[in-house]
Amino acid sequence: MEQLFSGKVAVVTGAGSGIGEATALLYAASGAKVIVSDVNEKGGNSVTEVIRKAGGDAQFEKCDVSKPAECERLVNAALKHYGRLDVACNNAGIGGEQALIADMSVEGFDKVIAVNLASIFYCMKSQIPAMLENGGGAIVNMSSILGQVGFAHSAGYVAAKHGVVGLTQNAGIEYSARGIRVNAVGPGFIDTPLLAQAPPEMKAALVSKHPIGRLGRAEEVAELVIWLSSEKASFVTGAYYPVDGAYLAP
Ligand code: NAP
Repeated sequence: MEQLFSGKVAVVTGAGSGIGEATALLYAASGAKVIVSDVNEKGGNSVTEVIRKAGGDAQFEKCDVSKPAECERLVNAALKHYGRLDVACNNAGIGGEQALIADMSVEGFDKVIAVNLASIFYCMKSQIPAMLENGGGAIVNMSSILGQVGFAHSAGYVAAKHGVVGLTQNAGIEYSARGIRVNAVGPGFIDTPLLAQAPPEMKAALVSKHPIGRLGRAEEVAELVIWLSSEKASFVTGAYYPVDGAYLAP
């Protein structure tokens, strides 16, 4: 595998499962030392072990991204353990409460905004100064196709993922000239544990929204994250990239 991140340190939030797991594994296989972070210790420790067994270098750090102090602590842990931070994939997220707007609880709305949107601000706020210390870096924020269009019963999630795109554009404007590229990725529906509770008929309905005729795989999202994080994407910043089997095309 091409060693795109030799000598570099990457942090991935929500790395204990799904897209974050696939991304952490691919960063490690591409030469990065990886801080595997998750609120779920079991998943995070297991991914860390997989990386180590494959000969990679990884460290698990527990972090609830909805808490600003924990996001700051995560960056400090990377600096303490590896001495630098070059790359971050701010991926952790939840599906959130499913309800029409009038029926959605304030708590449910607030929670998805905290975990899926405010977290991106908290993470970047701590990551950016650390990256500036090295003269730059790359950040990839996990949005969604639902960062571009609406989806019934998911107002909080849709608002959060649209917000991730806006935050990404702002960070790109503010920091690109100082060597930090910031981009957002917009997966279509991906067959991860996040969708595990969906009944088969709902999964079939989701498949039908993707002209490619299937759901995506976590590894297919990770490939885009890795490219955006690497020097191959040296002129790509402040942008939103779908990886969605043409969901947004019609
Ligand atoms: P996943 O398989 O559920 O993995 C998400 C991981 O994040 C889990 O390990 C989860 O822990 C963890 N997590 C949850 N809340 C957290 C918090 N507050 N702090 C830190 N970690 C937390 O989900 P996924 O499908 O890979 O989704 C990853 C990202 O992609 C999310 O931002 C999601 O919105 C986005 N996305 C997913 C899809 C899709 O169809 N799957 C589509 C578009 C975008 P627990 O298991 O303990 O909850």
